[in-house]
Amino acid sequence: KNEMLQRIYGTAWGKKEDQDAYLHMLEEAEKGDHRRLGRQLDLFHLEGDAPGRVCWHPKGWAAWQQIEQYMRGVYRDNGYQEVRCPQILDVSLWERSGHWENFRENMYLTSSDNRTYAVKPMNCPGHVQIFNSDLRSYRDLPLRYGEFGSCHRFEASGAMHGIMRVRAFTQDDGHIFCTEDQIQAEVARYIDLLIKLYPDFGFSEISYKLSTRPAKRVGADEVWDKAEKALAEALDAKGLKWTLMPGEGAFYGPKIEFTLFDAIGRPWQCGTMQVDFSMPARLGAEYVAEDNSRRVPVMLHRAILGSFERFIGVLIENYAGALPLWLAPVQAVAMSITDAQADYAQNVANALNQVGFRVQTDLRNEKISYKIREHSLQKLPYQLIVGEKERAASTVAMRNRKGEDLGAMPLAAIVERFQAEVHSRSRTA
Ligand code: ZN
Repeated sequence: KNEMLQRIYGTAWGKKEDQDAYLHMLEEAEKGDHRRLGRQLDLFHLEGDAPGRVCWHPKGWAAWQQIEQYMRGVYRDNGYQEVRCPQILDVSLWERSGHWENFRENMYLTSSDNRTYAVKPMNCPGHVQIFNSDLRSYRDLPLRYGEFGSCHRFEASGAMHGIMRVRAFTQDDGHIFCTEDQIQAEVARYIDLLIKLYPDFGFSEISYKLSTRPAKRVGADEVWDKAEKALAEALDAKGLKWTLMPGEGAFYGPKIEFTLFDAIGRPWQCGTMQVDFSMPARLGAEYVAEDNSRRVPVMLHRAILGSFERFIGVLIENYAGALPLWLAPVQAVAMSITDAQADYAQNVANALNQVGFRVQTDLRNEKISYKIREHSLQKLPYQLIVGEKERAASTVAMRNRKGEDLGAMPLAAIVERFQAEVHSRSRTA
């Protein structure tokens, strides 16, 4: 153990309990490594032909779809309109937005018709273009757009890590166009949403950081004062403890960062809320104010999960691959003990699939203990076993993934149990 600590820290340190706790965390982290589980559970893989770009297998994509549909509902219920912007846009737009100057080395370029285009590294300019497509009034604000926005950014190969740090990713990205006076209320709404939403993914501990004006920045000090105050007040109004990070804001505005803590205590920065006084003006966004004058809206950039790739990586590690029922790509497998129950097992699976669950069958002519072991390794939430006794009584013997025998029950009871568990989004054993 000391050898391991010395390798990490160059020296052995601390009390024995601390060392043990730390080593335990490392062991748990290794068991739950998303790259290993991604292979074991057949969720995704990465190709040498496409470094930093994920090939999602059917099961991984099924989990993705659950999250995307959930987030779509969140957008709908929270006043966002979902949009979709082009992937490839002329460099002149990126020059105007400031990305060309500040972000060029991370951008992929392509050309045709004697024009040079960039593959979008961010979704923001596209959302400004939608805002600009019509004359907006103060009555339209706040205007909230959300996009499952696919972005490409060059990252050095050494910086990449499984699906956590990649070159192509999809953000749950959103932009709110509002007046300066609306910033605080919008930030408060967003904080409420996060506090409600993260526990659905198994995270109940959140920490908050407020990053303020850096030395190199755009915009007048009074505007910074106002924005920083609005963010701080939104945090205070919720009675939240937060850490001040002086000088850590973006050059165009201050931000709040939301960090989650997983099952073994590791921090993951996921949500961000950034106030931006720069981009709307650079891209010519304006609205008609109450006094009929033209004003530039404030733009709030916000993400909740961050990127799907990274967030799914975090979920896999947090749950060590044993995803809760609502996210599990395959929720249960119906297994026959002998060929005589094959039709019945198939009917059980069909009936559950028809009411919207994701259930597979295993009708192979193998020993039931072999089948159970195999599906246990796949970490499926439930195993539904049917032998002659169950077939005769029209029941199913159910096991959870801990290996606990839940007894025989009729199909209707299983449907009820699954529905309640999916609805509560609670974690199964
Ligand atoms: Zn943005």
